[in-house]
Amino acid sequence: MAERRKRKLHAPASEREREEPPEKLSAWPREGRFGPFGGRYVPEILMPALKELEAAYEELRENPKFRREVREYFSDYGGRPTPLYCARRLTAWAGGARIYLKREDLLHTGAHKFNNAIGQALLAKHMGKRRLIAETGAGQHGVATAMAGAVLGLATEIYMGALDMERQRMNVYRMELLGAQVHPVETGTATLKDAINEALRDWATNVRSTHYVIGSVVGPHPYPRIVRDFQRVIGDEIKGQILRKERRLPDLVVACVGGGSNAIGTFYPFVDDEDVRLLGVEAGGSSQGNAASIVHGRVGVLHGAKTYLLQDEWGQVRETHSISAGLDYPAVGPEHALYHHVQRAEYTAVTDEQAVEAFHRLCELEGIVPALEPAHALYAAIERARELGKNGLVVVTLSGRGDKDLEVVLRHGKG
Ligand SMILES: *Cc1c(COP(=O)(O)O)cnc(C)c1O
Repeated sequence: MAERRKRKLHAPASEREREEPPEKLSAWPREGRFGPFGGRYVPEILMPALKELEAAYEELRENPKFRREVREYFSDYGGRPTPLYCARRLTAWAGGARIYLKREDLLHTGAHKFNNAIGQALLAKHMGKRRLIAETGAGQHGVATAMAGAVLGLATEIYMGALDMERQRMNVYRMELLGAQVHPVETGTATLKDAINEALRDWATNVRSTHYVIGSVVGPHPYPRIVRDFQRVIGDEIKGQILRKERRLPDLVVACVGGGSNAIGTFYPFVDDEDVRLLGVEAGGSSQGNAASIVHGRVGVLHGAKTYLLQDEWGQVRETHSISAGLDYPAVGPEHALYHHVQRAEYTAVTDEQAVEAFHRLCELEGIVPALEPAHALYAAIERARELGKNGLVVVTLSGRGDKDLEVVLRHGKG
């Protein structure tokens, strides 16, 4: 495995990397790249902003005062650490390995997006920025950013496709309640990708006052690294908790992958532990399409990074489909692309139908209503727990709670 990994990393890398490949996967990124992936494929006009952010972050990430503040907001405001819960009835029903749930659904605002939003807002504040901007599709990242802006006293403006605003009126209202201004974007298809373009335009113009909060481990360097650093608390906590409870590391950790932030947060602290298998679960969708960028995609460039994405034969980005809005993104973070490329993590796709089935199982067996995104992970985890057998140990990250999805599940009918 180690040999194969080294060889594969050599082929597409630069001469420099060829001379000294990082010993460990955890050492990436180097010079803004994760092996052959990542980078900074952006218009010239954004380079100063990205360079300023990178320089400020490299300094702050070592700053004890900044780190203390992040820890304080995580615990006293967010409710960290979140529990690692042994799902006994689910385990008995599945009839295989013991299944633990990492309860990010119990975090303030009900999902792991909290970790990144509060982290980046603190970063912005330390950089002397007075204003946050963000794009949002279904509204979840917009709500998390609005929350962070409110509690830290930063002006917050959210770009959202006009069509998405109509579909997600409650989240628009929630952002406004939290003091954010929501700008409808009417261009293009009036959805997420158009909102991203508008947010980038704003940032390029207002970089002196403004920090752009990206919502997952995607985009140009240094974003994938910054977001990972704020989300790795998930995996760090799991490691401590499982060692206390089971006196050993899990055989398998599982998380759903949209852009990939809750999964990288879960995987990263285990990436050098070769005996721990990593499984990322993408949205397999239905006959109408999917959002499985690694399973069904090819390498290309989107939103500033080289990675796997869903594209047609001309390289045009394909329409995505998933029952869960949070997984409905046509690309994946470059660090996942690397893990896939060197076969450190495995990626699979779970359909809408299967996710809804797992959603109902968790409701009935454990009294927990999960978001539809981690219901994908749960379905795959149940299958793998059966294969692993009774002595196995599986941890699944429950990235969020399901209140937001009740209407979708109701309309879909019982799985
Ligand atoms: C947004 C979201 C996701 C997908 O985002 P990642 O960056 O892939 O983690 C997953 N689960 C929930 C609950 C979400 O809100």
